[in-house]
Amino acid sequence: MKGAIIAVGREILTGRTLDTNSHWLAVELTALGVSVKRICAVDDVLGEIAGEITHALSLGVDLVITTGGLGPTRDDMTLKAWSQALGRELDLNREALGMIREKYRVLHQRGYVDTPDITPEREKMAYLPQGARPLPNPVGAAPGMFLEDGDKVFIALPGVPGEMKAIFHEDVVPLLSRLLERRGEGGVLLQELVKSGFGDESFLWPLVRRVMDEMDGVYLKTLATRYGPDVDLEVRVEAWGRDEQEARDRLDRAVDRLREVLEEARDARN
Ligand code: AMP
Ligand code: MG
Repeated sequence: MKGAIIAVGREILTGRTLDTNSHWLAVELTALGVSVKRICAVDDVLGEIAGEITHALSLGVDLVITTGGLGPTRDDMTLKAWSQALGRELDLNREALGMIREKYRVLHQRGYVDTPDITPEREKMAYLPQGARPLPNPVGAAPGMFLEDGDKVFIALPGVPGEMKAIFHEDVVPLLSRLLERRGEGGVLLQELVKSGFGDESFLWPLVRRVMDEMDGVYLKTLATRYGPDVDLEVRVEAWGRDEQEARDRLDRAVDRLREVLEEARDARN
């Protein structure tokens, strides 16, 4: 499954907020077996958010995730953008409204907010594109969104990192894992760092490439740092498998083979 991540918020574009959400999501999605093809950040402008969603889809990805813009304010318009991009009406979602009502009831009971009433600002967070299901937010008030449309999956998560992570772990991981399994695309990614004994990446690369070319389901990356006689560059070896065992076998084989090739190169040099 190929995915795209869209971070929504002017604060990212002005540099006030570092987009850590995309980075976090990229790590998590990759671990689930999703191949992230694009990450971008976009302003709190309806047409631009919708345009970016449309563009991501035109790239042929199966999964698009947005973070940010689900709150009660007027500049939180990600769900409206989703509805525009997908051509689905924005409807008051009863389940989402129930979640929001319950959240404010508890917040009011604890004395955190003045009233438990559903004001227009609170109600706004319950408007979802038709066919979407709300994802409960265990930390904040705004529910997330999950929408399956044919073989495409659309997800909207809040911008507050704690809320985004909570919803992702509680609901998105189980939903996506099941979906990937059903499509036979689930997988495990394992990795290991190997010290190369060489400091020149241009010398190291052909050796690394040889190992990568010999094997399926592995990816090797030389990790550049700086130049110097004391530099010992590392190689990151990644292996995919449909299950833990397959990934482990591939990883072990690739690491063994890399060590062999490196040793041959060292011998040839001496
Ligand atoms: P929002 O849900 O878009 O109103 O975002 C609420 C807050 O979450 C923002 O003021 C930021 O502090 C934070 N935030 C939003 N997007 C991101 C992001 N991509 N990475 C890290 N923090 C973010
Ligand atoms: Mg915002």
